Amino acid sequence: CGIVGYVGGQSALDVVLAGLKRLEYRGYDSAGVAVLADGGLAAAKKAGKLANLEKELADRPLPTGATGIGHTRWATHGAPTDENAHPHLDNAGRVSVVHNGIIENFAALRAELADRGHVLASETDTEVVAHLLAETYSSCGELPEAMRQVCRRLEGAFTLVAVHADAPDLVVGARRNSPLVVGIGEDEAFLASDVAAFIAHTREAVELGQDQVVELRRDGVTVTDFEGAPAPVRAYHVDWDA
Ligand code: GLU
Repeated sequence: CGIVGYVGGQSALDVVLAGLKRLEYRGYDSAGVAVLADGGLAAAKKAGKLANLEKELADRPLPTGATGIGHTRWATHGAPTDENAHPHLDNAGRVSVVHNGIIENFAALRAELADRGHVLASETDTEVVAHLLAETYSSCGELPEAMRQVCRRLEGAFTLVAVHADAPDLVVGARRNSPLVVGIGEDEAFLASDVAAFIAHTREAVELGQDQVVELRRDGVTVTDFEGAPAPVRAYHVDWDA
């Protein structure tokens, strides 16, 4: 339902949680975050309100990192449980993904992954993407290219945002039939399903186009289509009052 991503000089967890709060008005049944820190990936997720997630984070704090993603879920596939909450991880715990929308061909992808030995921990349509990204990353060695290859295999509506522990300063997003907006700051960048999530930090925004992938780094963003062809990045000024 709501997505936030961040890379920059602030605590990613603080920025992502504040962003998720700005998206609470949309309604949700679970929430979760993932942070890249100390060469690894750490995640926390909880059914229920953001307050439940915050309590979990107080009991079991995540390491502080400069790159992170977060999600508020409105369940479509699988009950609103801790396991089904996003982010979803691959079996090695190196890649993490959040998703808005529905992957319509997830059952076929799930069966294929199970045949190749993947163990899926949730009932969601989303989790297949984490496993496919991990597999594709192993063969191509690059998260944006892995995202493009995986998106070409997906049917349905999706905003996807992913991070990989091997790429500590990078957030990758993609969209089809579901919104994704990028916020460009000074030595930091944001991603969200709605500008409300980052309007407190920057008013320089870029709407990601249909079937595009964005690479978010501290020093800027690049956009391609799902085939890898570069696309222009046209920023606009958000001028409504937050
Ligand atoms: N289909 C996904 C799920 O049920 C994402 C739902 C959403 O957009 O929050 O987990």
